[in-house]
Amino acid sequence: MKQGSIMNGKSEKAEYGLFKVIVKIIPIQVRSAPWNCLLENCLGVMHGLLFALSVVATQYLFDAVSDAAAGRAGYRECVICLAVLAAVIFGQQIVNGVQNFHGMGILLPKSAGGLTELIHKKIERIAPVRFEDTGFLDDLNKAKEGIRAITMFCMVLFVCVSFYGVYFTAIGIYLFRLKPMLLLTLLLAFIPAMLAQTVKVRIFVNLEEESAPLRRECDYYQKAICDREYFKETRILGAFTFFYQLFEDTMKGLSGKIWRTERKAALLQLMLDFTTFAGMAASAYMLFAATMEGEITVGMFAAVFAALTQIFAIMQEVVRQHMGNMNKDIGKVVNFLRLLDMPERTGAEGEPDFTKGITAENISFRYPGRDTPSIKNVSLHIADGETIAIVGENGAGKSTLVRLLTGIYRPTEGRVLVGGLDTARYSASSVWKGMSGVFQKYQRYKMTLKENVTISDTAAEAKPDRIRAVLEEAGFERDNIGLEDMLSPEYGGVDISGGQWQRVAIARGLYRVNGFIVLDEPTSAIDPVEETKIYKQFAHLAEGKCALIVTHRIGSVKLADRIIVMDAGKIVDIGTHDELTARSGQYAKMWEAQAQWYERM
Ligand code: ATP
Repeated sequence: MKQGSIMNGKSEKAEYGLFKVIVKIIPIQVRSAPWNCLLENCLGVMHGLLFALSVVATQYLFDAVSDAAAGRAGYRECVICLAVLAAVIFGQQIVNGVQNFHGMGILLPKSAGGLTELIHKKIERIAPVRFEDTGFLDDLNKAKEGIRAITMFCMVLFVCVSFYGVYFTAIGIYLFRLKPMLLLTLLLAFIPAMLAQTVKVRIFVNLEEESAPLRRECDYYQKAICDREYFKETRILGAFTFFYQLFEDTMKGLSGKIWRTERKAALLQLMLDFTTFAGMAASAYMLFAATMEGEITVGMFAAVFAALTQIFAIMQEVVRQHMGNMNKDIGKVVNFLRLLDMPERTGAEGEPDFTKGITAENISFRYPGRDTPSIKNVSLHIADGETIAIVGENGAGKSTLVRLLTGIYRPTEGRVLVGGLDTARYSASSVWKGMSGVFQKYQRYKMTLKENVTISDTAAEAKPDRIRAVLEEAGFERDNIGLEDMLSPEYGGVDISGGQWQRVAIARGLYRVNGFIVLDEPTSAIDPVEETKIYKQFAHLAEGKCALIVTHRIGSVKLADRIIVMDAGKIVDIGTHDELTARSGQYAKMWEAQAQWYERM
């Protein structure tokens, strides 16, 4: 497979027009909260009908009053018409209130939950190698902002269809029956406004495209300025100004882009207001002429005039506020859809059989954006129950090889078989069944000690005895820290030392029941004496399993059955500790250098 084609996010980005967005987004929104979407639309239809009814009730009231004034009818009719109009307006207010509460207070949070779940599940299905691609990280960042935007966007669509749709259709029929030209003027005022909005959609989609990388940069600099994990280094090295300057420059760039887009949009808005005003003036003139010529009654004039004012006010609201918001949101919605449409890492289901060991057949791998491969034509077999250690200089390709052997990445050439399952053909969850690992960049979860150890255990009740046992095996001194203690001062808990965190990470790796375990430099923050103890313990635990150890400390790899020496992405030597030291190659040099270092200590 050609690496460039996997990573080039842009080439995969399909074009998303407004129509395509609407067609795709409605089912997603409806699935996230079906009953609430139905209720929202029912309320919209009721609201629209009540609005149209108020115009007819106004006409009857005015006609009743003018008849009463001319002595053609009594006050009773006036009072009845007034009571009907008051009831309709009251009903309108109630429905409006309920709709607002339901939309913002119930539908929005409920949908946000459903959509967040959708995006999380999707992320799980995306190949981990994509996380190496900055373009993908931008898309992910942008997509997360689309969660709220989707519901807001759909709520506007619902309002347009159920409320405005019903209201305009009812009023349209009413006006058409009075004078067909009235309807035409209305449409003429509305169509240019709609066209202007389509242009605005494009402007805001482009803005979103361009501003996401800048926002990500700003967030990162802000993190470097404010976050706990950075503050020691940034303050002591006097790097505050450096990061602040970068933050300010990027922010300026971002604000400039937003300001230019808003200016363009405001100019379009001005043109739009003008057409709406012209439409309203023409309709009012026609209405006045029709009344003067006796084509319509005074009551009709008053009701329609009031309705026209209302229609134009609503049009302004639809076009300026609702569609304006839709324009701003559509960029975010498109990003959400792009993420959902991204190709997933799929594969057949299977059960790894670790008696078959782990095999790499002539594999190569190139990172996104890199011209040269980081792993070149590597072949290797880890037999059942064998512990293999990988050593090599910085950048030799050790961690990359581990990611390939564990199926985190799929090789660009060749194939990897984990317990007989080809990582390119089987699903990630199948390949990772019965696999465990502790990595160089382990995580410090802001959770309890127990949760930190048992994240791989979805069964509700983790086993306290087993947790204590693995913590002990990892050499974690519990002091006064209980399993339920929160390991984070930010959440009212305690912090532990770097070495202790590393042992928690090791305990986490040991906790997962496994047939293949990987230790990728998990002990760099632990002193060498303790480290040797942990590796001895590890060797004991790894008995009968396939195991892989990556470390810079040669003293610890002696325990392995075989040692692989890597250089520039290739395996340059392989053998036991004694065999390799006897060969006086790269391994022997590394061994001598470190042995001397330990002697000088
Ligand atoms: P170290 O001992 O320093 O951890 P390593 O032997 O584990 O190094 P790798 O991290 O596998 O080496 O890196 C091998 C090569 O791949 C290096 O040239 C490195 O620059 C490159 N590389 C590693 N990660 C990435 C990445 N995410 N994107 C691009 N290139 C990468």
